[in-house]
Amino acid sequence: MGSKSHELFTRAQQLMPGGVNSPARAFGAVGGEPIVMERAEGSRLIDVDGAEYIDYIGSWGPMILGHGHPHVVEALEAAITKGTSFGAPTEAENQLAELIIDAVPSVEKVRLVNSGTEATMSAIRLARGHTGRDVIVKFAGNYHGHVDSLLVAAGSAAATLGVPDSPGVTAGTTRDTMVLTYNDVDGLARAFADHGDAIAGVILEPVVGNMGTVPGSPEFLRAARELCSQHGAVLIFDEVMTGFRVAHGGAQALFGIMPDLTTLGKIVGGGLPIGAYGGKQEIMDNVLPAGKVFQAGTLSGNPIATAAGIATLTMLRDDPPYERLERTSARLAVGLDEAARTARIPHTVRRVGSMLTLFFHPDPVENWGTASQCDTGLFAKYFWSMLERGVYLPCSQYEAMFVSAAHTDDQISDTIDAARVTFTKYGPK
Ligand SMILES: *Cc1c(COP(=O)(O)O)cnc(C)c1O
Repeated sequence: MGSKSHELFTRAQQLMPGGVNSPARAFGAVGGEPIVMERAEGSRLIDVDGAEYIDYIGSWGPMILGHGHPHVVEALEAAITKGTSFGAPTEAENQLAELIIDAVPSVEKVRLVNSGTEATMSAIRLARGHTGRDVIVKFAGNYHGHVDSLLVAAGSAAATLGVPDSPGVTAGTTRDTMVLTYNDVDGLARAFADHGDAIAGVILEPVVGNMGTVPGSPEFLRAARELCSQHGAVLIFDEVMTGFRVAHGGAQALFGIMPDLTTLGKIVGGGLPIGAYGGKQEIMDNVLPAGKVFQAGTLSGNPIATAAGIATLTMLRDDPPYERLERTSARLAVGLDEAARTARIPHTVRRVGSMLTLFFHPDPVENWGTASQCDTGLFAKYFWSMLERGVYLPCSQYEAMFVSAAHTDDQISDTIDAARVTFTKYGPK
């Protein structure tokens, strides 16, 4: 920890709750103090004391091209001279909407918002408005932003009715949210058998990034699709993390399973604040002013944010990095797996494209029940040891590592070497 970083974070704690503007940054799960960053270049972060790190967070997902990609910077410079916000339609909004609709197979119409949270909040409102039903099904360990009615823990009884997972969320707000087990086809079928005519929609991460990387099984995703169709419920894929990440068309393109609504964010804004939700025209046309479901935003479709989004999605279309990402990420996953195996540390690696997690659990992680039993103490030691060696990992066992197009083969090798040294220290003697 550099002295300038320590000083700044000490001051930050007097100014902001916990010294941060989002809890994921606070190193709470690994103990100790977060590092204050100064700038980022390509695949590297540089802190306020001048130390450099290989960055596997990529701003928690958006920076698939790496930091400061020249096309994105150029687009931002051009946009900023034209005005920062108009509160009126712009051509750039058409362009970003077209890039999304062309890439994401199930999206016919889209609405731009300002964050992933806003996208999921709006999508479940739309599912309810469209169906005239109340209940939303979600899955334990899936994160959809800090929407009140989705901040829900599974009830303790066999009953699946959700209970508030945060002070400030009322029981009334969560009463219409059901929490089920991820990848559990029977559980989902039972919920539809018992409550099918009350279920407005099912929201899920098709590849979960928010309990570490846990892919939805094809059977599970297919069952969700079929059950929603049979019962007239809206299937929502929350692709805020997976959209333009696991494939250009997102997880739905990768698996060939189409939701009714899709939520997007992160990559779609190229590092600036954007979210989006879109889907079938007949559902989207329920949104105001085409329809009656209220949803609005002063800065929605903001010209600076859309410029970064357009530049990023254009690069991803015209010079797709996905094959390269697959290669570098696979090498990293194999390297981490071997390093842990050689040191006889119980673990599993799960990866989809450039999202991956080394779980300190011997079994393949399929749901939150297994994920929550990981050795988080060992994770904390691993995290700090890697950081000492210049590797900046997500500061929780339950967050995915992200590889960007800017990561070099040498950086992957250095990361694997750092893991080898680390695991030799912490494996059984
Ligand atoms: C990050 C994330 C969100 C929330 O997006 P914010 O922009 O942080 O509000 C929602 N869903 C998923 C799957 C995410 O990964």
